[in-house]
Amino acid sequence: MRKKLIVGNWKMHMNVSQASLFLHRLQEKVPHYADVEIVLTPSLLALQPLSVQLDRRKFRLAAPNAYFKDEGPYMGEVSFTMLRDLVHYAVVGHSERRIHFGETDQIVRDKVAAAFRNEITPILCVGETQVERRAGETKQVIHDQVTTAISHLTTKEVESLVIAYEPVWAISTFGGIVAKPDDVKKEMDFVRHQVHELFGPKAAKEVRVLYGGSVDDHTAAGYLSLEGCDGAIVGGASLNYEKFAKIVEVAHQLHGSESENT
Ligand code: PEP
Repeated sequence: MRKKLIVGNWKMHMNVSQASLFLHRLQEKVPHYADVEIVLTPSLLALQPLSVQLDRRKFRLAAPNAYFKDEGPYMGEVSFTMLRDLVHYAVVGHSERRIHFGETDQIVRDKVAAAFRNEITPILCVGETQVERRAGETKQVIHDQVTTAISHLTTKEVESLVIAYEPVWAISTFGGIVAKPDDVKKEMDFVRHQVHELFGPKAAKEVRVLYGGSVDDHTAAGYLSLEGCDGAIVGGASLNYEKFAKIVEVAHQLHGSESENT
């Protein structure tokens, strides 16, 4: 059975000392659960100092972004090559990058490739806006985002990939409509179906599909108990260590009950 994956997405919150204090409190609060993988996504600046403070039995780090070229005259950018060995994961294609920074499906594809080239596992975010959903374009958007980002990859790479379905309208910073788990299951299944179409049954079984969008300690269980949901990306609620610790605990409890039933 795939481990549950819980990603704390801190975005542009907390400077280095705040992030360090927060991690200290979180490490005290969260026990080591063998069945839950916990990933923290601080600012690029905080990655290095947190990496030396981090209890690696409990947590892994993800980069919130990076540039797809490995090195060169790209003023102000940080490459995946520079993050190699520092992070395990990188969040790629997040809706805030697509919307505020004009990241196209092609740029996202190049970032996914750069991450793999540097032995970093991408957490590829896909999802439709409210306008696209209302226009009945949800499937087409997910199809285009997933296909463009992964079709050039190897089957082995896809087997290790994480894809997060994050409907933009459900993300707290873009409207924060709390989706009913049953209303997003179809789209999560469609993501896995896309992987099946492109890479076959083994890749579809191995790829991890997460949900993201206003998940908190009260709503987490609903999403995490959906069949085929391997975890969650948590934005706002991950900035509260008590709430984030509870979400991790929910994931652990659900995983325990799944193992008893199988
Ligand atoms: C996100 O931005 O990835 C996210 C899921 O945010 P929130 O949980 O705040 O909606």
